Parts: sequence; C-alpha cells; structure tokens
Amino acid sequence: MQVFPRLGEHNYEKVVFCNDNEAGLKAIIAIHSTRLGPALGGIRMLPYPHEDEALDDVLRLSRGMTYKAAVSGVNLGGGKAVIIGDARTPQKNPALLRAMGRFIDGLGGQYIAGQDIGTNSHDMAVIRGATRHVACVNESAGGAGDPSRTTAYGVTCGIRAVLKATTGSDAFGGRHIAVQGLGNVGYEVAKFCHEAGARLTVTDIVEPVLAKAASELRAEVVGPDEIYDVECDVFSPNSIGAIINDDTIPRLRSPAIAGGANNALAEPRHADELTARGIVYGPDFLVNSGGLIRCQEEVLGKPTEDFTVYAKVANIYEQTLEVISRAQELGISTAAAAEWLAEERIAGGK
Ligand code: NAD
Repeated sequence: MQVFPRLGEHNYEKVVFCNDNEAGLKAIIAIHSTRLGPALGGIRMLPYPHEDEALDDVLRLSRGMTYKAAVSGVNLGGGKAVIIGDARTPQKNPALLRAMGRFIDGLGGQYIAGQDIGTNSHDMAVIRGATRHVACVNESAGGAGDPSRTTAYGVTCGIRAVLKATTGSDAFGGRHIAVQGLGNVGYEVAKFCHEAGARLTVTDIVEPVLAKAASELRAEVVGPDEIYDVECDVFSPNSIGAIINDDTIPRLRSPAIAGGANNALAEPRHADELTARGIVYGPDFLVNSGGLIRCQEEVLGKPTEDFTVYAKVANIYEQTLEVISRAQELGISTAAAAEWLAEERIAGGK
C-alpha cells in the first residue's frame, strides 16, 4: 500500500509503526485528528493475515472515531491502534501489553487507548503500568471499567428519537422494539426498553441469554435470521456489523432503526436505500457514542457513574433529532447528515 496518498486522502495526522522484537510486538497506532482533543480509540488485537489489512483497519477505524466524537459533541479526536497477533493465545501477554503502553506513552497524550476486539479492561490495567494515557481500566484496578451500560443508555435515547420522528411521540409504552444481539449492550438496551413499557422481540445466536430475556423481560424470541421480518416500531441492531445490506433491507418491516452495532450498514449506499424506502436510520456512530462520552469523563478524571454523565449521554436524543431534520432539509440520508454535522464541528475546531 502507498501510505502517503492514503494519509492525504483524509488528512491523517500521524501513523506510528511500533516494533519490539523482545516482546513480540508489531502494532500500528493511527491518529486521524486531534483538532477537537486528544485522539481516543480502542486497541484491536487480531491475527491480520497481511500488514496491509492491519493498516487499512487502523486508518478506517481512527477516522470513524473522529466522526463519532465530533457528531456527539465530545472534545476528543480520533485514533485507533491495532496489534497484529492472536489475542486468544499466549501471544497476548503482560510484556507485549507493557511494550504497547510504552509506545502509547511516547506519544505524550496525543493518543489515549481503550479496549476493543481482542483486548479488555484487564489488559488496559496492564497497559496503565506503562502509561497514564489509557481509559476503560477495570474497576478492581481503580478504573471506570466497561462502558457498555452507558452505551446502551445512549442507544435508548437514539431509539426514543427515531420513535419521535416516525410516530410523533417518544414514549416507549406499547411500542414494539426488535433487538438483535443480547450482549453487553443489547441486553441492557432490551432491559431499558422493557422497563419503559415497550414490547420486545429479541434474537441472539447464544441460547441462555434468550431464555433469560424471555423470562426476565417477557420478550418474544425469534431465530437470528427471522428478526429482519418482524413487524415492529424500531429495529435495534446490537450485534455484528454489515447486517443492513442488499439482502436484509427489502425484508425490514420497521419504519425506524437505531442500535449500538458499529458499521451496521454494509456500505454507505445502504443509507440512501433506507431513505428511499422511508426508513428513518439513527446513525450508528451517533447512537452508540454513550461509551465514548463516558470515556471522556474518565480521561478528565471525573466520576463515570454520576448522573451528569447520563445527562450528557441523553443529548443523543436531541442530536439524533437534529440529524434527522437536517437530512430531511437537505434531502440526504441521516448518515450523510451526521457526517456533515461532524465535519462542520471539526472545521470549526470546537
Ligand atoms: P457483545 O459481544 O457483548 O454482544 C454481541 C452479541 O451479539 C452477543 O450476544 C452475540 O452472541 C450476538 N450475536 C453475534 N452474532 C449475531 C447474529 N448474527 N445474530 C444475532 N446475534 C448475534 O458486544 P457488545 O459490547 O454488546 O457490542 C455490540 C455492538 O455494539 C458491537 O457492534 C460493538 O462494536 C458496538 N459497540 C459497543 C460499545 C460498548 O460500549 N460495548 C460501544 C460502541 C459500539
């Protein structure tokens, strides 16, 4: 891959290739933008078959973080790191994580690490041994821990906004929400919706969590592929990415979508396809930004379970409504409108 043309295309600030033979570390840190603040983003550890794929992933993801922070009003920039290796093997060990921490520390706070696929809050505690520029450290090590519940609360604010846009009311009472994926985020989303009076249809690929949702949340359970055909008020994807695609869009029986799953749209053009069908889409990088908002508080040394954090996350409701109305005004998709608002904020540097 030609690196500089790629960096120039989206004006990336910095890419750091990290190598430590002794620790077996091969990693890349990408800082897309620090215009709004230090670049925060998770460390992903995957056995990328080729280093081009690692570079491609870290560039794409770091730019996504810039947009997520900008659109949700967070004063952070966009960054990401990838470690090339298999996190399920002894390849991931304290020496490797500390070596990674030293590289992060060398950036003097321009990049702040968090957890992502292949890393967890316990790994962040090990990394903190080498640098203070790390978030999502587990609670027993004195950190703020897993941000999933805050993310889920933000997702419910996004769901309320799309309900308001499509029905005129943001009340959950009597509404039908279809939740795909009942993991850390999805189960909490389902619980919030249930407690607010919504009826639920849920799915997952793991059995025990479905039985729990059926008894605890009185949810109707359907198979993983059946969720797309459920007639409901809001479809909430909270599992893997790319599930809104050419095959699933024609099947959707919901006037609105809002969920936590990153990159839920298989391709950007699918946002236009949803608009053409009159389906209101709460952009994933806005709707799922609650965890990032919490990380910002953690980075600033503020309490993270405090009501002020939840009050900030609640802004996702107004922000999603603003994106929807801007999209209607400009005749573009909500995803494009969210990017537009993010770019406006980055350009203003505030
Ligand atoms: P998780 O791994 O805890 O949960 C994902 C769930 O989806 C699991 O229960 C899994 O069994 C289920 N699943 C996987 N494939 C499925 C399929 N084909 N059909 C139905 N269910 C399926 O992950 P999470 O932390 O809850 O994150 C969920 C999504 O939200 C991810 O896309 C993640 O990137 C995104 N996200 C999470 C956070 C956070 O704070 N955890 C923040 C922002 C975005």
